[in-house]
Amino acid sequence: MTILDRSEWYDIARETNWTPTFVTEEELFPEVMTGGLGVTRDKWEKYDEPYKTSYPEYVKIQREKDAGAYSVKAALERNKLFETADPGWISILKSHYGGLALGEYAAMSAEARMTRFGPAPGMRNMATFGMLDENRHTQLQLYFPHEHCSKDRQFDWAVKAYHTNEWAAIATRRMVDDLFLGRDAISIAIMLTFAFETGFTNMQFLGLSSDAAEVGDYTFSSLISSIQTDESRHAQIGGPALEVLIANGKKAEAERMVYQGIAGAWRLFCVLTGPSMDYNTPLAHRKHSFKEFMQEWIIGQFERSLIDLGLDLPWYWDKLVAEFDYMHHAYQLGLWYWRPTIWWNPAAGVTPDERDWLEEKYPGWNDTFGKCWDVIIENVVAGRMDKTYPETLPILCNMSQLPICAIPGNGWNVKDYPLEYQGRTYHFNSEIDRWMFQQSPERYRDHMSLVDRLLAGQIQPPDIGGILKYMNIAPGECGDDAHKYAWADAYRVNPFSKSAA
Ligand code: MN
Ligand code: MN
Repeated sequence: MTILDRSEWYDIARETNWTPTFVTEEELFPEVMTGGLGVTRDKWEKYDEPYKTSYPEYVKIQREKDAGAYSVKAALERNKLFETADPGWISILKSHYGGLALGEYAAMSAEARMTRFGPAPGMRNMATFGMLDENRHTQLQLYFPHEHCSKDRQFDWAVKAYHTNEWAAIATRRMVDDLFLGRDAISIAIMLTFAFETGFTNMQFLGLSSDAAEVGDYTFSSLISSIQTDESRHAQIGGPALEVLIANGKKAEAERMVYQGIAGAWRLFCVLTGPSMDYNTPLAHRKHSFKEFMQEWIIGQFERSLIDLGLDLPWYWDKLVAEFDYMHHAYQLGLWYWRPTIWWNPAAGVTPDERDWLEEKYPGWNDTFGKCWDVIIENVVAGRMDKTYPETLPILCNMSQLPICAIPGNGWNVKDYPLEYQGRTYHFNSEIDRWMFQQSPERYRDHMSLVDRLLAGQIQPPDIGGILKYMNIAPGECGDDAHKYAWADAYRVNPFSKSAA
């Protein structure tokens, strides 16, 4: 029996469009689910996916990938990494699993929407594999942390986080609901696969996999690279969709979707990846600062792909790039100070050596963020621990659900960007967040931030105890300093240092 080469049959076999006779075209592909923006089906048939594979090929490769990841895990099960790794690294694992595992599951639903409602046959093929990919990613990232649950219940948050009203989980769900679950097929192709995946996760996973290998966590490294190879394939769903839209006079609409996707993804990336790279990663293992990483990948690579497609850069590009200098430092202060409200133990990352590194990578850090850490260090050294814990919540952005913050100290630029809409005042962290809201206020207007809920009396008692209960954080799960404050010893030994004075 002769077997045809894939290239000989693929183009014919993928043309799975037919003319419906029992229902109308609009009933088969309702605009609300498809989002074809009036581009007709024959035009969508021009969609040409850059990565072509068949089901037998897919299954064979995926089986090998799964076998690889699970066998590395099994082989290293008895190694002592969990006991010997720097606690900052363990915190990266916990924040990653809780923040992402069920996000992958949501991404599976998003791929399923493109599988059913994508207007182009090639898109539906790619998305079918993408759907299976995301299911695999969910299973892997629920299974791998599970072995640690008996030693440390914070790992249980891989499953638990998305089912709680914990603030970082709310912020993550906000983005996932908005970009993955609550959109039509074409918007998903652009916002999830093009903006979120090629812009952010693909790079994130490449970086994370090499960081894991660097600290000797080969289990996590192989898990992440196994996932990344899937992402780099299905992330290519969005590019050809953009080409079809641009070719059919929908450039402005396409740009608007890209800009919303980037803005939505950036905040979450900033709060999870920024502090992981510049504070939680042990100093000896840091290769790039978060800013350098963003400049190289997002500016160097992603900006190039926008330009190659003929898209203009977002109106807010300079503002977003300016945030590379400070926003994640502000979030880090919040993560550490509000540490009882998160499911991992943040590393402070402010030993004298680490501060030198921060000052070198971010000139002026000591005069701005360092001023806040000076106060925290003074309190830790003096044993006034009560002064290092929160009593209530910070003001939150009604778009990102993250604290409204920016540069403290000598560079002070913290500012609320309010908006009156239908009799309610909304608060935003930046012009970018406010613009996001204005793109479709009806999507966002009824949502109450945690602070809105606190003020409305939904959280009782309205203090930190009531807040932790509302967030479903049990005592053994509360975050605390990753290194049990050992880093502060460097400020204790020198009685003449500023902090010990
Ligand atoms: Mn995935
Ligand atoms: Mn994906």
